[in-house]
Amino acid sequence: MTIRLTRRRAIAAAAAAPMVAAAAPAAMAAAPLQGPSSRLANRFALGTFEVTALMAGTRTVPNPKEIFGLNASEEDFAAASAAAFIPTDKAQFFFTPTLVNTGAELILFDTGVAAAGTVAALEQAGVTPDQVDVVVLTHMHGDHIGGLMADGAPTFANARYVTGAIEHNHWSKAGNEGFDKSVKPLNDKMTFLDDGGSVASGVTAVLAHGHTPGHMGYMIESGGERVMLIADTANHFIWSVQNPDWEVRFDADKAQAAATRRKVFGMLAADKVPFIGYHMPFPALGYVAADGDGFRYVPASYQTMLD
Ligand SMILES: [Zn+2]
Repeated sequence: MTIRLTRRRAIAAAAAAPMVAAAAPAAMAAAPLQGPSSRLANRFALGTFEVTALMAGTRTVPNPKEIFGLNASEEDFAAASAAAFIPTDKAQFFFTPTLVNTGAELILFDTGVAAAGTVAALEQAGVTPDQVDVVVLTHMHGDHIGGLMADGAPTFANARYVTGAIEHNHWSKAGNEGFDKSVKPLNDKMTFLDDGGSVASGVTAVLAHGHTPGHMGYMIESGGERVMLIADTANHFIWSVQNPDWEVRFDADKAQAAATRRKVFGMLAADKVPFIGYHMPFPALGYVAADGDGFRYVPASYQTMLD
């Protein structure tokens, strides 16, 4: 085979030659280890909207069976884990707020464990906290409301807030320290909705209770395309998706949470609608297919990139 050098390539090759020679001694030294790379934002188009999943934090947690498989047998838990190439003695947690740009407003869904992680991910997405127009809270657990306030001041200085009426009523009476510290100061700027309520055109609340009394997912729809933010409807991509009835420690009403998983995943599977799960492995975007008595998680590949 003959390699034909174009004029441009010949010039580039000639220019590169001295640099190769000069760089040669450096190859004797070991390259420094750089640590894992971090990708904190994954943006895709949905009709005329843009949807950005934000990785606000991640951590390794021990003894996952005591969290995700309370009523599962040791054997079943081990088998499901082995089949998915994940260990049984620890699990990786992800915290994934989502930003939706409708073209008219920037809507942030949930705020992470603390403001710093969410602000860092927003920065990678090219957005400053003061640009956020609306903050939607899916429910009032600490890993969702923890980023609302920082040093006693609202993180999202210009935002209004939206949450479910049932959820807010529940926590208002619960004497909960996190709610009182992070949500209560913002009550004056908060509006409430019920199942089917609308945050903005194309952004619709879907009651998905059980995890908490008023937990809500949101259907995002633009130009005939849909993605559902399921929040904490299911908190693990293998254990809770394949076995919707496996009891999860964080679910307040375990039977209702299982029924909600079956209902929501049944709808997403039938309609082939992708979803973002707040605790799914980043970029937290995938599909579910009906499989046996449960479902199978199919991580998104290039679907959102297609013209
Ligand atoms: Zn959560």
